Amino acid sequence: MAKWMNPGPCLVPWGGGFRWSSRTLWGLFSIDRGMMNKNELDIMRGKLNEMLEELETEVSTTLEGMRGDGATFPDPADRATMESDRNLTLRIRDRERKLKKKIEEALARVEDGTFGICEECEETIGFKRLEARPVTTLCINCKADQEEDEVKHKAG
Ligand SMILES: [Zn+2]
Repeated sequence: MAKWMNPGPCLVPWGGGFRWSSRTLWGLFSIDRGMMNKNELDIMRGKLNEMLEELETEVSTTLEGMRGDGATFPDPADRATMESDRNLTLRIRDRERKLKKKIEEALARVEDGTFGICEECEETIGFKRLEARPVTTLCINCKADQEEDEVKHKAG
C-alpha cells in the first residue's frame, strides 16, 4: 500500500484514548436539563469541602492519640488494653480514609458534572437526599434495593 493511502491515526483527533460512556453523555445532558443548577452545585461543593476539613481535623486528632502509644506497659493486661486501643484507632483511621475517598470522589463528580446522578439507574438522586448525605452515589430507590439485598444476603 502506498504511504499516502494509509490514513494513520492522525485522522482521529481524539486519538482513541477518549471513550464516550453513558456516564459522560449523561453528565452533559444533566447540565442541559438543569438537574442541579450551578448554585446547588456550589452548595454541595461547599458542604463536601467542609466535610473534608472536618475529617482532616479528626484524622490529626487520631494521629495524636496514636503517638501516645509509645509508652511501655509492663503489665500484660495493660498491654492488651493498649493493643485493643490500637486496633480501635486503626479501625477509625480506616473508616476516615474511606470517607475521605468518598468525599474526594464526590467533589470530582461535582467538577465533571455527574454529581447527583445515581450510579445504578442514572436517575437524579434529588437535592434533599444529597443535602443530607452529599457522598451518596445511589438514589433512594436503589439504596433501598441494595439494603434489601444485604438483608436477604445476611438471612442466607
Ligand atoms: Zn437509582
